[in-house]
Amino acid sequence: MSRVYNFSAGPSMLPEEVLKRAQAEMLECGDSGMSVMEMSHRSKDYDKIIKGAEALVRELMNVPDNYKVMFVQGGGSTQFAMVPLNLATKHKAADYIITGQWAKKAAAEAEKYIKVNKVASSADKTFSYIPKTTAKDFSSKDEVDYCYICYNNTIYGTRYTELPQTEATLIADISSNAMSEVIDVSKFGLLFAGAQKNLGPAGVVLVIAREDLLGEPMEGTPTMLTYKTHADNDSLYNTPPTYAIYILKLVLEWIKEQGGIAAVQKVNEKKAKILYDFLDSSKLFKGTVVKEDRSLMNVPFVTGDSDLDAKFVKEATEAGLVNLKGHRSVGGMRASIYNAMPVEGVIALVEFMKKFEQENL
Ligand SMILES: *Cc1c(COP(=O)(O)O)cnc(C)c1O
Repeated sequence: MSRVYNFSAGPSMLPEEVLKRAQAEMLECGDSGMSVMEMSHRSKDYDKIIKGAEALVRELMNVPDNYKVMFVQGGGSTQFAMVPLNLATKHKAADYIITGQWAKKAAAEAEKYIKVNKVASSADKTFSYIPKTTAKDFSSKDEVDYCYICYNNTIYGTRYTELPQTEATLIADISSNAMSEVIDVSKFGLLFAGAQKNLGPAGVVLVIAREDLLGEPMEGTPTMLTYKTHADNDSLYNTPPTYAIYILKLVLEWIKEQGGIAAVQKVNEKKAKILYDFLDSSKLFKGTVVKEDRSLMNVPFVTGDSDLDAKFVKEATEAGLVNLKGHRSVGGMRASIYNAMPVEGVIALVEFMKKFEQENL
């Protein structure tokens, strides 16, 4: 067996320790006599898993007591509808900042239900930066129910380092940076993350929401798309994605063993620096994002020649560095270096890039 360094944007690498633990517990988890996949979601054994996962989210992210932690299905994309359906009930309007495909999709989905103010966008330069905003760019909290951002832009490789100066309730998609850096939950009304980038396998979405926001949704909202349904039933209204939540719990235990999110963030900053420092010194490769807005998780880069990009991706794959092709909408390359990517993986990539540069310059 030889595991590769997988730079996929998602689903992406999981810590090897987690996979080994899951393997060891595949046939029997604890003394339950069965695999987690075979357990009733209402059983004592499973209750320990889902409650344990919630407790770890609260501990690691320092979630205040007046917030609910939920595990729901439908991927990050279903949140694009759930957010307006549940939270835009007063003014039926919200501010959106358009920083890439995911924010664009979220805004388009919200427009089906509410008035969307696109208060800023970086579309003019292919989303290679985070638009600068000031308080006066935003609607007042008497005009909108919330302001929506995509915290880390998985496709374009930008991230927020300073939150927008809105007085409205801030909502953020943290699918690709959840638990990669310290986030102050109390600054947000709601945060959500599809697990398959940084937290576990596909199939579960983590939602953290301030309790007072979880009232009645818009009329006609399906029961399953109502946050209150999941909040009131501890994510057990119906059968949750039991195995995905179990793996997520193992990942959270792993994060805790690393020293928590602040410790993981230090490693992520180190990994990103290794790669960005090389990109800044390279004569062949260059990063596509303005320096101050560079993501710690997703690093897009190009050679400027699409044939050479293709050659690089092909040869990297042969060297065990896989999934480096950029998103189909931008081309070039993208290295996703989530929590589970070890420092050695980034060093191996940079060494390979140096060699490729020598051979092709
Ligand atoms: C991947 C991703 C999504 C979409 O998630 P799905 O689970 O595929 O619906 C949304 N937002 C961000 C930031 C993402 O990276």
